[in-house]
Amino acid sequence: MKILVINCGSSSLKYQLINMEDKGVLAQGLVERIGISGSILTQKVDGRDKYVIESPLKDHQEAIDLVLRTLVDDNQGVIKSMEEISAVGHRVVHGGEKYATSVVVTEEVIKNLEDFIKLAPLHNPPNIIGIRACQALMPNTPMVAVFDTAFHQTMPEKAFMYPLPYELYKEDHIRRYGFHGTSHKYVAGEVAKWMKKDIKDIKTITCHLGNGVSVTAVNGGQSIDTTMGFTPLDGIIMGSRSGSIDPAIVTYLVKEKGYSIDEVNEILNKKSGVLGISGLGTDFRDIRAAVEERNDKRALLTMDIYGYQIKKQIGAYAAAMAGVDAIVFTAGIGEHAPEIRVRALTDMEFLGIELDVDKNDNQNIGDGMEISKPSSKVKVFVIPTNEELMIAEETLELIQK
Ligand code: ADP
Repeated sequence: MKILVINCGSSSLKYQLINMEDKGVLAQGLVERIGISGSILTQKVDGRDKYVIESPLKDHQEAIDLVLRTLVDDNQGVIKSMEEISAVGHRVVHGGEKYATSVVVTEEVIKNLEDFIKLAPLHNPPNIIGIRACQALMPNTPMVAVFDTAFHQTMPEKAFMYPLPYELYKEDHIRRYGFHGTSHKYVAGEVAKWMKKDIKDIKTITCHLGNGVSVTAVNGGQSIDTTMGFTPLDGIIMGSRSGSIDPAIVTYLVKEKGYSIDEVNEILNKKSGVLGISGLGTDFRDIRAAVEERNDKRALLTMDIYGYQIKKQIGAYAAAMAGVDAIVFTAGIGEHAPEIRVRALTDMEFLGIELDVDKNDNQNIGDGMEISKPSSKVKVFVIPTNEELMIAEETLELIQK
C-alpha cells in the first residue's frame, strides 16, 4: 500500500510517497514558487539523480497535477498509475479544539478547517487549498487530515488556559493549543522503543528544535503541557521568533515607539530570536561559525540563552510530571547542535541527568543515539524526527478502519 503525504505552504508544497510495507520513501519532492514566476519542482528518488523541472504553476492544483504526473512519469516516476496511491495524508496546522486525532476529510471537516482560519491565518488556508486540489485530481482517493495541534488536545485545563478574562476562552477560543504535535508524538514513540518500555509507563520530555522550537511533557504517551501556545510564537527562543516575552513589551512598542501592530508582529515573528540576539541570521550554522571563528560575543550569548531556556523547561516539565525518565532532542538543531544540548544538560545531575559529553559530540546520529551515561537515571536521546512517516501511518490506520 502506498500513501502520498502532502505538506502545503502558501507558495510551496512538500511531498513524499511512502511504501507502507517497508516504510520506504519511494520519492520525495518540493515544489516552490507556486503562483509566482519561476515555479520549480525538485524530486529525489534513492539511487537516481535529482530531477528538476521548471514549469509555470498558477496554483496548487497545477502544482499537485505536476507532482502526480512526475510520480507516474515513464522515466522519472516511481509508480505506474495514480490508482496505486491508496490515500493522501495532509499535514494541517490547526485542528482547533475539535480534532484530538487525525480524521478522514469530509465536507464537514473542510468547513471546520475554514472556521479555524482565524486561529492559523497563515497556515490553514494553503492546507485547505492542498486538500481541495487533491480531491479535484483524485476524486476517489481518501484524504486524511493530520493536525499539528491534535496531539496536545490531552493537555489539562490548568496547562492550556491563559490567565485572561475567561470569556476570551469561551467566546474567542483563546487558549494554548501547542504545535509540532506529529513530531513530538513520533519521537516520544521512538524513545519508548529505544528503552524497550511501554510508552504508558514513561515520562518523556521531547525537545523539537528546528526553525520553530517547542518542548513538550509527554506523560504515559499523552501531551500534558507544551511550550507553544495560542500560536507558534510562544515558548522558547526560535530562529526569528521571540518565544515568550513580557506581553507588556508589545504595548510599550506600540505606545512609546509608535510601531503599528503589523510592525510589532513583524519584529516578534521575523526579527527576533536567534536572528535578533546574534544579528547574524536564523541559521544555527552561522552562529556556530561566528563562535568558532572569532568567539563572537552575541553569537555566544545566543547559544547561552537557547540552552538556558531549554534547561529551565526541562526542570519545569520534570516538576509537572513529578519526574522524568527520558529526554529526546530532535529537528535540525536538536539533532545537529551538540552545543545546545550540552548547555541544556550540564549540571543537571541533581535531576538524575548525566550527559556523556563524547557521545553528545558525535555528529553521525544515524537512526538515533543515546547520549546519557549508562549510570544516568534519566536517559537522553537524539532521534531524527519523521513527521511524514507519522502522517502516513495515521492515514493508513484511518483508511483501514
Ligand atoms: P523546520 O522547523 O523548518 O523543519 P529544521 O528542523 O530543518 O527546521 O531545522 C532548521 C534548523 O536546523 C536551522 O536553524 C539550521 O541552522 C539547523 N541545522 C540544520 N543542520 C544543522 C547542522 N548540521 N548543524 C547545526 N544546525 C543545523
